[in-house]
Amino acid sequence: MKVLLDDKIVERNEVKIDMEDRGYQFGDGLYEVIRAYNGTFFTADEHIDRLFTGAKKIDLVLPFTKNELKERLYKLMKENEIETGNIYFQVTRGIAIPRDHSYPDPIKVPAVFTASTTKVPRDQAKMDRGISVITLPDMRWLHCDIKSISLLGNVMAKHEAHKVGAEEAIQHRDGIVTEGASTNMWMVKDGVIYTHPDGNLVLPGITKIVLLDVARKAGIPVKEEAFTLEQLKNADEVFSSSTTIEAMPIVEIDGVKVNDGKRGPVVKQLQDLYVKAVEEVCGK
Ligand code: PMP
Repeated sequence: MKVLLDDKIVERNEVKIDMEDRGYQFGDGLYEVIRAYNGTFFTADEHIDRLFTGAKKIDLVLPFTKNELKERLYKLMKENEIETGNIYFQVTRGIAIPRDHSYPDPIKVPAVFTASTTKVPRDQAKMDRGISVITLPDMRWLHCDIKSISLLGNVMAKHEAHKVGAEEAIQHRDGIVTEGASTNMWMVKDGVIYTHPDGNLVLPGITKIVLLDVARKAGIPVKEEAFTLEQLKNADEVFSSSTTIEAMPIVEIDGVKVNDGKRGPVVKQLQDLYVKAVEEVCGK
């Protein structure tokens, strides 16, 4: 499988990352995942905008324009013959010696960019069936809006879920639900959809933008309002969202069924609306 190293397409095993890379040393970098359907990226501009916004927040000088980045990403997808799948890419603050916490001069130390692809079809059976999750305290930092490659908090939360056979961990701060380890979190109560507002406690999800838009256009009431663990556990429907899983029903929380333990009608409607939005951009 070929990958991108800066602006070059190379074999993955040809890439040698320097041990002094600040991504490796400090987790000093940003990442994104974009999904393609039928050879076309969905919401690529939104993902690229979020990378540029994040870079500004951490004074990371990106080594490309938005258009150059998109061209590179398309080139790799074509090279690897990915029609429907994901592209992961990251940018680190480069190779600075000696190791020192403070930012190096970006003129002397350019950022390092890498990207890789995977072919992944939509997992329809899982999207029909739903997943089980656990809940746990949100132990992460207070800049969750930055899509940082420093993911230890998220990794630890996901591992807790996997230890008990669950797929995702719903994190909360003092009983207020924030988001999953790698997803935004949603609940439906009395026909109204709730999700945590953007801010420093959650990632401003791109899938969330699409779901909010299609829900509003379909006339489904939406509230970008935080909710408690107790509200979550008494919800009519619960689901999570991300680029790779779209809208995923959650049918069991901490070993207890959500409602009747089956995918509910609102998340089914949102899944259908999301597919329609994808097909309008990427074809059937
Ligand atoms: N929250 C977190 C912590 C995530 O890692 C992700 C996915 N990367 C999301 C939310 C969902 O974001 P998106 O819809 O842009 O994939």
